[in-house]
Amino acid sequence: MAGMNLNEQVDHLSGFLLRHRRVLVLTGAGLSTASGIPDYRDKDGVRRGRTPIQGPDFRKSEAVRRRYWARSMAGWPTLAQAAPNAGHQALAQLEAAGRIDALITQNVDGLHQRAGSSRLIELHGNIHGVICLDCRTLHRRADIQRWLVEANPALAASAAAGADSVVPEARPDGDAEIELNDLQDFHMPSCGDCGGTLQPDVIFFGDNIPAPRTAAALEMMEQADALLVVGSSLMVFSGYRFCKLAAASGKPIAAINLGKTRADELIGLKVEATASEVLPRLL
Ligand SMILES: [Zn+2]
Repeated sequence: MAGMNLNEQVDHLSGFLLRHRRVLVLTGAGLSTASGIPDYRDKDGVRRGRTPIQGPDFRKSEAVRRRYWARSMAGWPTLAQAAPNAGHQALAQLEAAGRIDALITQNVDGLHQRAGSSRLIELHGNIHGVICLDCRTLHRRADIQRWLVEANPALAASAAAGADSVVPEARPDGDAEIELNDLQDFHMPSCGDCGGTLQPDVIFFGDNIPAPRTAAALEMMEQADALLVVGSSLMVFSGYRFCKLAAASGKPIAAINLGKTRADELIGLKVEATASEVLPRLL
């Protein structure tokens, strides 16, 4: 859309939504940055910061779990306080108005649900849930936080005070950026039902999306006649595959994203702006 001003680009996008009866929307981290949840990647799609937690390491190593829960405890308040932004609200309203058909998100922040989107698949899970790996009971992350703060008062106090040794920066997977000298004294949460090992109910890197969830998402793509990508560089295959599928069956693809995406050559209509700025103008 080079050479067009934002108004003209938004007009084209409006036309795209009107022309297609069943538009599937795929959202990524770029949508939630306006809610105060930082993106993993910069404009060129390059990962920044520390290597994320790997699922197999998390389950194998108590040290990795200890580090995760300590950082997660520090980063949780930011995630817990994040609220849906104008982009989330607009998507819920576009769905209610029948302008979009369904939504698939790569985000785990739960903000689409809170904004009121209903035909929704959270591809990578939801950080507000914690699952027991032994008995599969689903716990509320907010309850786990209460336990963590009570069991680790010193760390809770220094995190709240922003001490030099504990500098929380929330990450999308709940794994805050903090450096801790000694985690030996840190108390990890366990399942209140069976004493088992807890894991946030999200898909870590190195883990697979459950087959029924993938099947439901692919079904949504099958039923759609067009795809709109919002705030994703599509560097993760689980998102990119929807563009490949749409393109393979001749379904047009539009995108709202600041910076390049892995699927730029497949995208027919691209608006380079933030989602929270563009989406409300489609109403
Ligand atoms: Zn359990």
